[in-house]
Amino acid sequence: RGQKGNMMSDHENRPSHSECLDIIVPCYNEEDVVEQFCVNLLEVCHSLDDLQFRVLFVDDGSTDATLDVLNRLATQNERMSVYSLSRNFGHQIALTAGLDHASGDAAIMMDCDMQHPPSLIPRMVEQWRQGFNIVSAVRKQTDEVSQFKRLSSRLFYWLLNHLSRVEIKPGAADFVLLSKRAYTALQGMPERHRFIRGMVSWIGFRRTYIEYVAHARAAGNSKYTLWRMLGFASDAIFSFSAEPIRAIGRLGIAVVLAGTLYLIAELARVLIVGDAVRGWPSLVAAVVILGGLQLFAISISGEYLARIFEEIKQRPLYLLKQAPPQDD
Ligand code: UDP
Ligand code: MG
Repeated sequence: RGQKGNMMSDHENRPSHSECLDIIVPCYNEEDVVEQFCVNLLEVCHSLDDLQFRVLFVDDGSTDATLDVLNRLATQNERMSVYSLSRNFGHQIALTAGLDHASGDAAIMMDCDMQHPPSLIPRMVEQWRQGFNIVSAVRKQTDEVSQFKRLSSRLFYWLLNHLSRVEIKPGAADFVLLSKRAYTALQGMPERHRFIRGMVSWIGFRRTYIEYVAHARAAGNSKYTLWRMLGFASDAIFSFSAEPIRAIGRLGIAVVLAGTLYLIAELARVLIVGDAVRGWPSLVAAVVILGGLQLFAISISGEYLARIFEEIKQRPLYLLKQAPPQDD
């Protein structure tokens, strides 16, 4: 569905001189950094040979002067467009808004706090020109992030990779170049709880990684508070895995088995040495076995829920990387 006409390699049917790169930048209360970011970004982009570029700023309902700054910058430079969301919808939705308005031959998503250095863009473009559909920038750990952020991020990726079938490389956040075909695939995924780096892994295609050193924010504070990080982590896990509810089912089976063994052992004891406390073993066995059955039943309902959830995500069933020419 919707894949026809998009099957040729991204680099085939188009003249190379008019290639255009869209750079998607979500900003939320970033008045302190956005101008510096812009200067730096434009400098890098102007150095890209035979590549047009566009910067799509998405103001995510900022309550400070971010939007004014962006609008002022946009009047000074025709390559910049500003989209502004009616309120704060969150980083992942702001990125989605930018992706929805992308139309170039490739799109890059990046933060505007200078933690995603614009100087990496030429290398990303180079990899894309070599035929990769997805070029992810992978953060090498630096001492500047707090011990807590480092540990929590490790735990998060470990958990996610064990619970979910999509593979997510630690440190590969939302600093990524997507070819037209890759971002078109993302545009075709209408799910509402969006964990974009998981979705980027889900679509497949040819992917490569380049490393970079992340510095501390140029100014301002991280917009991800502890609660937001927890919300983000649960979105990621529940959107990409039904493992938690299945684990409960396995626990239920284990409990039922344990209760049954206990009952058998008690029955044997009664038959061999006689009954010491009347009613106690049967009571405990009934509580344990029924408790286990209930856990198991919950996971069965959960399994149906997980399927309904899969259905309502309305993702395409598959994406094509190649098709015979007569289909095109
Ligand atoms: N951001 C956004 N909406 C939000 C929170 C953050 O658009 O609700 C933007 C923010 O302006 C920045 C990027 O998302 O460009 C990443 O946010 P931040 O740097 O605060 O996250 P961190 O790097 O600390 O994980
Ligand atoms: Mg940041």
